[in-house]
Amino acid sequence: MESLIRDSYLIRWGTPPPGLCQKREFCGLPRSKNSICPNCQVLMMRHAGLDLTDPVFGGELKPLDWLDLLFCWKCNVAHGSFFYHAQMGGEVTILDYKKGSEDGDSPSEDFPYDDYPGWFLQTPLWLEDLPKEIQELRVKHFSYDWDDRSERARSVSLKAIDSDASQIGGVPFLWNFPDKRMVCPICHADMKFFAVFSNESTDPRGFACDGVHVVYEIFAGCRVIGVWQEID
Ligand SMILES: [Zn+2]
Ligand SMILES: [Zn+2]
Repeated sequence: MESLIRDSYLIRWGTPPPGLCQKREFCGLPRSKNSICPNCQVLMMRHAGLDLTDPVFGGELKPLDWLDLLFCWKCNVAHGSFFYHAQMGGEVTILDYKKGSEDGDSPSEDFPYDDYPGWFLQTPLWLEDLPKEIQELRVKHFSYDWDDRSERARSVSLKAIDSDASQIGGVPFLWNFPDKRMVCPICHADMKFFAVFSNESTDPRGFACDGVHVVYEIFAGCRVIGVWQEID
């Protein structure tokens, strides 16, 4: 699974270490215009907002300077292929999504939980290097056949590779490592891994439920973001 950002960083949030002054936001409301869920007709939930001029991103998404990572828990939007296009000038266009929700056409009443806030309090986001050894262990782990993998995982000490934390770049820890990449709906090129978010949010109840991963992939040439989710 090729990554847009080669190095690997754990996503941390809350009070950043002293001296750190980066324009990265965890949760909060999207800055991009038109970030409206096509099913629910309300502002989408935002996992993060990222200043793309940050050297960490290596100019991969130039000339785009801001990226909101968008999602919605109330409906089916990312239960199939969800793609959006980040446009210059800070606007997004939804390219493809799955219509409806568990409750039919309207947003689910009590999903993911009662009194779900719809969006989460914003806090600074900062990055911590994920050690190379963990990355190497993951590459090895995911190279095993599926049947073999769980067996071997027990002996390899799954703990060593499974931080189950949110991450940008590198090799993510996923329950079901996909054999195929998402494909850009505009030019049909393979997309690259960008980030994964676990259930941890600024609300103690989490984003949705334990064991959930929301994965963001990007095709930089078209500035297309693809999103899917898995649960253990
Ligand atoms: Zn929605
Ligand atoms: Zn494309």
